[in-house]
Amino acid sequence: MQCPTARLCAVPPALTVKPRLFRHLLLSLLLLALVLGCGYAGYRLSERAGIRALAEDGERQLELNARAVESEITKYNYLPSLLELNEDVRRLLQTPSNYRRQRVNDYLEGLNGRSGSLATYVLDTSGRVLATSNWREPSSFLGEDLSFRAYFQDAVQGKPGRFYGIGSTTGEPGYYLAHGLKQGERIIGVAVVKVRLDALEQRWQRARLEAYVSDENGVIILSSDPARRLKAVQALGPNTRERLARSLQYHWWALEELQPLARTPLGDGIEQVSYASATPGGRAPGRINYLEQSRPLADTPWRLTLLSPLQDQRRAAIGNALLAAGACALLIFFGLALNQRRKVIATRLAAREALQRANDELERRIAERTADLSASNERLKAEIRERRQTEAHLRQTQDELVQAGKLAVIGQMSTSIAHELNQPLAALRTLSGNTVRFLQRGALEVAGSNLQTIGELVDRMGKITASLRAFARRSDDHGQASLGQAVDAALMLLQPRLQRSPVQIEHAYAGATRLGIDQTRLEQILVNLIGNALDAMGAQAERHLWLSGAADGASYRLEVRDNGPGIAPELRGHLFEPFFTTKPGEQGLGLGLTLSASLAAAAGGNLGVRHPEAGGTAFVLSLALLAGAPAPEPSHE
Ligand code: ADP
Repeated sequence: MQCPTARLCAVPPALTVKPRLFRHLLLSLLLLALVLGCGYAGYRLSERAGIRALAEDGERQLELNARAVESEITKYNYLPSLLELNEDVRRLLQTPSNYRRQRVNDYLEGLNGRSGSLATYVLDTSGRVLATSNWREPSSFLGEDLSFRAYFQDAVQGKPGRFYGIGSTTGEPGYYLAHGLKQGERIIGVAVVKVRLDALEQRWQRARLEAYVSDENGVIILSSDPARRLKAVQALGPNTRERLARSLQYHWWALEELQPLARTPLGDGIEQVSYASATPGGRAPGRINYLEQSRPLADTPWRLTLLSPLQDQRRAAIGNALLAAGACALLIFFGLALNQRRKVIATRLAAREALQRANDELERRIAERTADLSASNERLKAEIRERRQTEAHLRQTQDELVQAGKLAVIGQMSTSIAHELNQPLAALRTLSGNTVRFLQRGALEVAGSNLQTIGELVDRMGKITASLRAFARRSDDHGQASLGQAVDAALMLLQPRLQRSPVQIEHAYAGATRLGIDQTRLEQILVNLIGNALDAMGAQAERHLWLSGAADGASYRLEVRDNGPGIAPELRGHLFEPFFTTKPGEQGLGLGLTLSASLAAAAGGNLGVRHPEAGGTAFVLSLALLAGAPAPEPSHE
C-alpha cells in the first residue's frame, strides 16, 4: 500500500494504537467525572433537601420553644403589680417604719415562697430596698440602693421594667420584673420580682436541644450549653460595655464574644454556623456545623436562637451522594454493557449480511460456473460423440488395414502355400495310386500303411488351411491370447519358409503366459516380426532367432531377435511409417510393422525396436499380463 505522506509512514507501529488508548483514557476520565458529578449532585440535592427539612423542623421547634420562653417570662408579669393592692406595702412606702417593714418582709417572704420566684422586694422611689422576701438571708438586699438598675429606672417612670441580670448582692442570675407602685397617679415605689429561668435551660438540655436566648444587648442570658452563657453574640462597643459595667447588669462578667468559626448564609434567612466542638480528653477541638434560626420573643427585646446540628444531614447527604454515584456507575455500566451488546449484535448482523452477500455471490458464481460447465459439458459430449465416431471410423479403417495386411501376407505366402499344398497333393496322388495297386495285389498291410500316411497328409493340409482361415478372420481389440499357442501358430504359418532355410530358434518364455490381446492379432504380430527376421537373415549361413519373454510389472515383454544384418541408422526412424519397405519388388508392402504397432497399441501395449551391439535386430512387444498367468519359464522347446 502506498503511504499518503512520509511523515505518517515514519510513525512506528507501536504508536498507532495511541489514539485508541487516548480515546479510552479520555472516556474513562469522562465517565469518572460523570460518576463524581452524580455523587456531587446527589450530595448537593440531598444536603439542600435535608437542610430544608431541618429548617422546617427547626422553624416548628423555634416556634414551640419561643412560646415556651414567652409563657415562662410572662407568667410572672402580674406578680409585681399585685403588690399595689397590698395596704401594708403602700403604708411602708408612704411612711416607712420597722414594724411595717417587717410586716411587708413577712408578706413578701410568703408570697415569694408561693410564687416560686427567687426574690420579691419593694424599693422606694430613690431606689432603696425597703422590704424583701430574703430579709432573713445574709445576702439580703434590705437597705441596698438599686437605683442604678435599669428595671428600677424604667419602673419608676411608669414603664414596665424588664431586665435580665446578675444580682449585685447574690451574684445569681435572674429575670427581674419591676412595676411602679402608684398612689393615684403618683408612683410611690417600685415592686420587683426576680425569677429564675434556668428551668428552660434544663428543659432544653433534657430535650437535647441547642438553643439560647440573647437579650437586648446581644448577650446570651439563657443557653442549653452553659459555655455559651453570658457571651455576646455580636461585638459590644466600648460605650455599651461601659454602660453595662455601670449598671452591673452582668455583674463583672467579661462578656466575651461568641465567635462562630464560620458563618455561611444558606438562603431564606437561614444561616449555617460552625462552632468548635468541645472534645473530651483535651483533644484538638472539632468543628460542628449548625443551622441557625432565630426569632424575636414577644413582649421582650430578646431573641430565641435555635441551633440544629447538621451532622446527620451531612451524613445522610454523603450516603445519598455515594448512592447517586453508585447508581450512576451502575447506569454507566449498564449503558456500556448495552452499547457493547448493541455493537456485538451490529457486528453479528454485519457479519451475517456479509455472509449472505458472499453466499449470494457464491451462488451467482456457481450458477455462472454451472452454466459454463454445462456448456463445456455439452461441448465435451459433442466432442466425445465426434471422437467416438472418428474412433469407430478409425477402427473400421484399421480393421480394414489389418485385413488388407493379412490378405497381403497371405498373398505373399500364396506361392509357398500353394507349394506346401501341392507337395502333399502330389504325395496323395502317388500314395492313392500305389494303394489301389497294393489293394489289387492284396498287399493290405502296405495299403493300410499308405492310407494312414494319406490321412496324416490330409490332416497336415487341413491344419494349413485352418491356420490360414484363422489368420484371415476378423478380430477385436479385447481378447486374450496364449503366448505359446500364438508362437506355435505363427511358426506353423511360416513352416514352409523355415523348412526351405532352416533357422536355429531359441525359445525363452513361458508358453502358458496369457496376454491381453486377441489371439489372432498376437499371431499376426508374431508372423510379421518372425517373417521380417527370416527376410533379414536371408540365406546367411548362421541363422539364429531368439524368442525370449519376461514379466515386467503388470506387462509382459516379448523380444524377437535375429542375427541378421540389422537396420541402417538412417532408416531406423522410418521403420514404423506405413509403406516403408526396403524389400524389392512385390516382396514388401511396408505395412507389417505399422500394423503390428497399431495392433499392440489398440490392446494397450506397444511395439519398439532395439539394435543390439552384437548385431541383428530385436523387436520388443509389450502387452498386458493377465492375472493368474504363471511365472515365466526358462524354455519352451
Ligand atoms: P515389409 O516387410 O513389407 O517391407 P515391414 O513394415 O514389415 O514391411 O518392414 C519394413 C522394413 O523394415 C523392411 O522393408 C526392412 O527393411 C525392415 N525390417 C523389418 N524387420 C527387420 C529385421 N528383422 N532386420 C532388418 N530389417 C528389418
